[in-house]
Amino acid sequence: MTINHHPDIATLMAFGAGTLDEPYAAVVATHLAMSEGGRESLRHIQTIGGALLNDEPAAPLGSGALDRLLDSLDDEGDTMTLTKRPAPVAAPTEDGLPLPLQRYVPGGLDSVRWKWTGPGVATADLAWGKDGKSRLMLLRVAGGRRVPEHGHGGQELTLILQGAYKDRFGIFAKGDIADHDEDVEHQPIAEPGEDCICLVAVDAKLTFQGRLMRALQPLFGI
Ligand code: ZN
Repeated sequence: MTINHHPDIATLMAFGAGTLDEPYAAVVATHLAMSEGGRESLRHIQTIGGALLNDEPAAPLGSGALDRLLDSLDDEGDTMTLTKRPAPVAAPTEDGLPLPLQRYVPGGLDSVRWKWTGPGVATADLAWGKDGKSRLMLLRVAGGRRVPEHGHGGQELTLILQGAYKDRFGIFAKGDIADHDEDVEHQPIAEPGEDCICLVAVDAKLTFQGRLMRALQPLFGI
């Protein structure tokens, strides 16, 4: 499994700081369970966070910020890496669902009760303890089918559990994460073959582009 798409650095930092809403934290934790590279990035970020707390000069965040911060770690040698011991992150499981996801889908994917939300598209809300405006859900798109083009009212974090989809950002396959904010509009199309199943955290309803889709949105419940 080659993972090419990782969470935004701001998302990882918020996860490391424990400030993400539970649905988002669940998606990130599940991704990390599937991604050694992601766990390595989180360890670096926690090291950097510890260094910043120790009054090390802060690098500005933004594009390439992680690279610059990692470069500065190399410059400083081992002293900074000893400032903070990384928090343990769940290791991947050998079979079945990744460990962080099992508490939300205790019976496995076969037990999920899907709700039809459009041609070839189904969703299933996952209970996560309290009613907030964030939702944690599974999305299933049949091979070759498309999710209607949409924008986001807020951050949308999507982790691919099975299959793959393609949109204007590239191909997202098992273990990849798509981290989109409200500025993004896209139209994912599942790759031909097996169903694409994703774990999704959203903090507002999706906004569809077409008049027909906007009219149907209340029926779809997405
Ligand atoms: Zn989207």
